[in-house]
Amino acid sequence: MISTRATDLPFERLCYQSQADPEYAAIVAAWPTMTSERRVQSWQKLVSLSDRAKHELMPTCVRCGVCCEQGGPALALEDIDLVRREQIQWPALMTVRVGEPVRSNAGSQVFLLPEEKIKIREQPGGKACVLYSQETKSCSIQQAKPLECRMQACWDAQAMNERSPGRALTRQSLFAGVEPLLELIAEHERRCPFTEFWSALEALGRSNDTDVDRVLAMLAFDEHIRVFAHERLGIPEQAMDLIFSRCLSERVHLFGLQVKKEHDGTRTLLPLDSDR
Ligand code: SF4
Repeated sequence: MISTRATDLPFERLCYQSQADPEYAAIVAAWPTMTSERRVQSWQKLVSLSDRAKHELMPTCVRCGVCCEQGGPALALEDIDLVRREQIQWPALMTVRVGEPVRSNAGSQVFLLPEEKIKIREQPGGKACVLYSQETKSCSIQQAKPLECRMQACWDAQAMNERSPGRALTRQSLFAGVEPLLELIAEHERRCPFTEFWSALEALGRSNDTDVDRVLAMLAFDEHIRVFAHERLGIPEQAMDLIFSRCLSERVHLFGLQVKKEHDGTRTLLPLDSDR
């Protein structure tokens, strides 16, 4: 056991530690047959158990699941072999490009990403890591967890503050030597840089048709290169978010917009609430 401050500790962790104490199980088992007086004493005992849990934390992961429910981890350069050996598979991954809006781990702040990251996705419609099972409170790659997960130490605030996440894994490192992929990624970055896409969207409300044309051109190329990579290079569609990051057409809703595509391939930007 170690002593530490209990501030910001996951509630689930404190419950787990209190409940792991043999005295907790004994009280729960005897509760139905206890007298009122005994129940009062036992209740006081339970309060003291939870107080002890706050101050004598187990220096280990108790698999409460709180870290995994806050989002998928970003991968570090040290994790490259986990991907190359397919212990973490491509469909579980996505790239977040420079300039994309992301939430801080605490979830309270949104900021524009200063450098590219490859991360494990979140579950559809939620925040939990896609490799986390809520039912069993377990990680499906327990023996091959990335560095960020292995470094989690919620029981030791000082270690958490001092930890260094290591150098981020990028597509340049992951696909080094795979020239066709790197060329496609470079061309996508040249034609559809996220920072430019974002600033063109921001400018839409106060500017002219030039910004609309820029957005539409980027949307068209972003779709085109995914189709090309799938049809000509055989890259599975589930891997596109890793190769090119999420589709730009899925991001326009952040600006209250949607993309309407006509049969002839032309696109129009419409307000999100308009009938298509
Ligand atoms: S990879 Fe495993 S340990 Fe890491 S956040 Fe996902 S489920 Fe949790």
